[in-house]
Amino acid sequence: MHFYHKEVLDWHFFNTFAQNIKNDSKMSINIEKIREDFPILKKEIYGKPLVYMDNAATTQKPLCVVEKISENYLNHNANIHRGVHFLSQEATEAHEAARETVRKFINAKYAREIIFTRGTTEAINLVVSSFCRSQCKDGDEVIITQMEHHSNIVPWQLQQQDRDIRLKVIPFDADGVLQVDQLDQLITGKTKFISVTHVSNALGTVNPVREIIRKAHAHGIPVLVDGAQSVPHMPIDVQELDADFYVFSGHKIYGPTGIGVLYGKEAWLDKLPPYQGGGEMIKKVTFEKTTFNELPFKFEAGTPDYIGSTALAAALNYVSQIGMANIAEHEQQLVRYAKEKLSGIEHIRFIGNAKERSGLISFLVGDIHPYDLGSILDKLGIAVRTGHHCAEPVMTAFGIEGTVRASFGLYNTEEEIDTLVAGVERAAKMFGRR
Ligand code: PMP
Repeated sequence: MHFYHKEVLDWHFFNTFAQNIKNDSKMSINIEKIREDFPILKKEIYGKPLVYMDNAATTQKPLCVVEKISENYLNHNANIHRGVHFLSQEATEAHEAARETVRKFINAKYAREIIFTRGTTEAINLVVSSFCRSQCKDGDEVIITQMEHHSNIVPWQLQQQDRDIRLKVIPFDADGVLQVDQLDQLITGKTKFISVTHVSNALGTVNPVREIIRKAHAHGIPVLVDGAQSVPHMPIDVQELDADFYVFSGHKIYGPTGIGVLYGKEAWLDKLPPYQGGGEMIKKVTFEKTTFNELPFKFEAGTPDYIGSTALAAALNYVSQIGMANIAEHEQQLVRYAKEKLSGIEHIRFIGNAKERSGLISFLVGDIHPYDLGSILDKLGIAVRTGHHCAEPVMTAFGIEGTVRASFGLYNTEEEIDTLVAGVERAAKMFGRR
């Protein structure tokens, strides 16, 4: 476990936040206090207290993030970068300060290596498009894994319409553990890129991305890591990982929707052509020729989401003050507890049994359709996700249509897991499986 995010701690905030950090032997964070920061958690659904366990899809937002958005619109709103007036300069400074907050959060070397995107999906599409257009030729190969989210499969397939790129896949075993040893056979002289998810959103498996990056770099192959399901749950240091590209979404880490991050090593971002054309990303435009702006603006065409970026920074400050290592520890405990308690349910089948796992549990009970199970849990106030989780190849590998997925965040409790387990038991009884 690394503690470098402690460096992000701002001493001015620390005193207020110290209340949230308790020296309890069981849990290192004060969940009751944290839950107060998320007003939506007080909601009742069908007369039952909301149990929100759909955090892998999106997380709830703390007051500080919501307040940041309204405060910005009410007091600091003006389009950034081009204005000489006070409000524009103030908004520009806030946007660039947010970039610096992101840089520190994932320990990138330079702020210009942080590109704001709409989310993980757009960040992957950007890299895939710019990389393939500039670096790939017919016959080249790209390696992904069998547990990718569709957003790390389909962008590559779109490129296949223009050039003959072959997609190769690292398989996982019956427990949902990636068979990384197969990478040595999959890499050939034609391998141009490796793109892997850090944590599977369908299985919860944490992949050994550092090992994958090491192997790839031994052959001079760049690696993109999809951090959509890792950044919210563990400390991330992109320099330590030596990732060439690392991407994540703001809304999965208590920030707003519509903002995400592409980290790229400066050398790569310099080498790749722009993804979209428009304002902000240019230096000089004539009808004959356009020259492009420097990093990071080269990849940020159009008006940036400067409200979203500052609200994302508020979210990152929020989790940093609690401590990513503390959040990781709390969520690991929740996953262990959930696994143990759910294991007592007759006919339960876990989809994904990796030892290295994070944040979520995917399961089925007997032959109850996940949709039916999810609908009954919903009536009990429990929000879980059902279906293929945008990872259909994972479902195909297990020969199933979908799973029920309970995914946890920093505000979930063991009591809520007890409610989930009781709900699943009740549903199983209703369907005559107990
Ligand atoms: N990758 C993974 C592993 C994900 O879990 C998700 C979201 N479910 C995405 C990519 C896509 O994220 P977004 O929809 O925020 O772009």
